[in-house]
Amino acid sequence: LVRISEVTKRFGDFTALDGVSLDIRQGEVVAVIGASGSGKSTLCRTINRLETITSGSIIIDGTPLPEEGAELAQLRAEVGMVFQSFNLFPHRTVLDNITLAPINVRGIPKDKAVARAHELLERVGLADQAAKRPGQLSGGQAQRVAIARALAMDPKIMLFDEPTSALDPEMINEVLDVIGDLAATGMTMLVVTHEMGFARNVADRVVFMDAGQIVEEGDPATFFTSPRTERARDFLSKVL
Ligand code: ATP
Ligand code: MG
Repeated sequence: LVRISEVTKRFGDFTALDGVSLDIRQGEVVAVIGASGSGKSTLCRTINRLETITSGSIIIDGTPLPEEGAELAQLRAEVGMVFQSFNLFPHRTVLDNITLAPINVRGIPKDKAVARAHELLERVGLADQAAKRPGQLSGGQAQRVAIARALAMDPKIMLFDEPTSALDPEMINEVLDVIGDLAATGMTMLVVTHEMGFARNVADRVVFMDAGQIVEEGDPATFFTSPRTERARDFLSKVL
């Protein structure tokens, strides 16, 4: 579904991504792990072109990433993104946060968008929170609203960049559970995470990054029990 080929991203002299290639199949859940500064967020951001790439190519569902304009907006609508900070519109209700883009970008009639938003809120366990504003929610609730908002666009793939890092410990699992449920529905997902238990239990594949490169990838059971590279072993010894 997504084919990332030899992607390099430089910020001035600094190489944040160094020849990264990664294919993500339809329905696959890929966990991206690695130390701070290894390029995980940059990789996520290049996939929906929040960041331009210096060289290489990214093809989503057969279409190369467009440079700009209407095609780019169209592509972004297909790629849902959930960040560490929830980025909800603070002055809008939860319901508005979920329905604005479907109505304005997708052109979905308001009554349909509202009905779908209620369905999604139910799915993330927030059926009774539609009228609240983001400031009235806990961090875990706000992140679940952000997930519902991304899903409301019917994306082909969901990108999560450390969706639980800003949360208090007791809220982490409620968000991971929602992401796990989503994985079970067959959604294609790239999840940058520091939650090794989640990577191990939910992901189909783990990608380990270091210094802008994918150093090792494989099925979670193998990666976590017998990493092949010294760098992965070193990383795991610090986080496990
Ligand atoms: P973390 O786990 O801390 O989120 P990360 O793996 O997501 O780390 P990135 O945010 O992708 O790391 O950053 C990779 C490297 O690129 C870092 O060294 C960072 O300083 C650098 N970088 C990222 N964005 C920019 C930018 N806009 N300008 C210059 N350097 C940048
Ligand atoms: Mg990051």
